Amino acid sequence: MGLDTSLKVNSMTRISRQLGKYFIFVAMLSIGFITLVTNISINLFFSDYIKETRSRDDLKVVQYVEQVYGDSNGLAPQSLMSIMHYAYSEAVTIRLRDIQNNIIWSSGTPETMHDMMRGKEDNDSSLSFRSYPLNYKGNKIGTIDVGRPRSIISSVEDKQFLRTINSAFAVAFLFSLIIAILYSSRISKKFLTPIYLIKENAKLIEDGKYKKLYEVITNTYELHDLSLSVKELAERLNYQDVLRKRMTSDIAHELRTPLSTLQSHIEAFMDGVWAPDIEKLSIVYSEITRLTKLIKELSDLSIIESDEIKLNKSEINLSELLSNIVESFEPLFISKNIHLYKEIQGDIQFLGDEDRLNRVFINILSNACKYTNEDGDVRVSLEQLKDVIRVTVEDTGIGIPKEDIKHVFERFYRSDLSRSRGTGGTGIGLTITRALVEAHGGRVRIESEVGKGTKVIIEFAIN
Ligand code: ATP
Ligand code: MG
Repeated sequence: MGLDTSLKVNSMTRISRQLGKYFIFVAMLSIGFITLVTNISINLFFSDYIKETRSRDDLKVVQYVEQVYGDSNGLAPQSLMSIMHYAYSEAVTIRLRDIQNNIIWSSGTPETMHDMMRGKEDNDSSLSFRSYPLNYKGNKIGTIDVGRPRSIISSVEDKQFLRTINSAFAVAFLFSLIIAILYSSRISKKFLTPIYLIKENAKLIEDGKYKKLYEVITNTYELHDLSLSVKELAERLNYQDVLRKRMTSDIAHELRTPLSTLQSHIEAFMDGVWAPDIEKLSIVYSEITRLTKLIKELSDLSIIESDEIKLNKSEINLSELLSNIVESFEPLFISKNIHLYKEIQGDIQFLGDEDRLNRVFINILSNACKYTNEDGDVRVSLEQLKDVIRVTVEDTGIGIPKEDIKHVFERFYRSDLSRSRGTGGTGIGLTITRALVEAHGGRVRIESEVGKGTKVIIEFAIN
């Protein structure tokens, strides 16, 4: 495994190098391609052009020979000399055949003219001949072959022209190579600076320095997005860190208060300072109850946080279930002189876990009771809409500060308002509530205004 990883790391290349390679490759490819296409098109163009002009030029040669033949009434040595000079000046080879198709005379290639004159055979392999009938006074008297070099681009000027074009391409290639190298380093700088900064930020996050991230400035959409995601990740991790630290201190605090009350009471009993009467024992008892509740909530929380919620679902009458819970709360509300209103639509059926749903509504109602002052109102409603079943618990209590609303579902989160009231909550109720509602495929949200009240809305999709 170790060997594998090291091999992979060794074979990695920096982006700047890779970009450089790609740029150079693309420059080479484009110039190479353009050179090839240009050469091919020039050749094709010349070949068409030459084919077209050749027929025209050949015709001129035939006319010239016919004219010479006509002027001297045959092929006198003098006329053959004129034809040879003509052939030489036109850079063609002229061959004459008699009516039986035997070669009776050849002008030879301009290069071999001297050999020809000495009676040697001309070398025809590099020539391409075309034959035309030779007429005199309307009768065919033989054939004339006009030979020209095979190579399409034959003249020195043609070759020079191609060479010039190709060297222009070579210069262009050099230029594009230089531009590719310069541009690749510019481009890599543009992309790499933000990437390096994002990488540094990831390292800072790794070291837990969430607050010291570098500012990444880029106008590249994806990089901007990535840097924002990394920043958000840092903020979340930082928040989790704060939460974890606060959770430890909260648990310590929650445990310390009841335990020190218990300790002081029991010490007083043992020292004989206090008699263990009902009043004192009930204080001890309520502290033990608080501890038990806290431990129960912590264990519920650990189950919820380890994603182990297994629902024991059955068809339940939600209207009945909610009515019963509200009724069980009535004495508590009466004792606080809070008016409790019920608007529960009858016979709403829902497939859910009865115990868990009980727990959800108890948490919400106990909050409404805890955080509402005397003479306040609490309104509980249940209604079935088109797609959802909605439960609303609305109170006229202390409310939740705007900035706290999004945090109240986090474990141990309690707004300062509720802390200062000394209601003795642990800040776990809503965390459990949300997890259970979501386990039922529902959603819970809170609307609240400080001093005016809070509205908790739970919606279950109709199943
Ligand atoms: P417990 O775990 O015992 O329920 P708790 O009530 O403090 O403790 P949650 O029920 O999770 O915890 O509520 C979290 C916080 O949300 C509360 O501390 C309080 O600040 C705020 N809150 C919840 N419900 C209300 C409400 N109806 N009115 C005002 N504040 C509320
Ligand atoms: Mg609560």
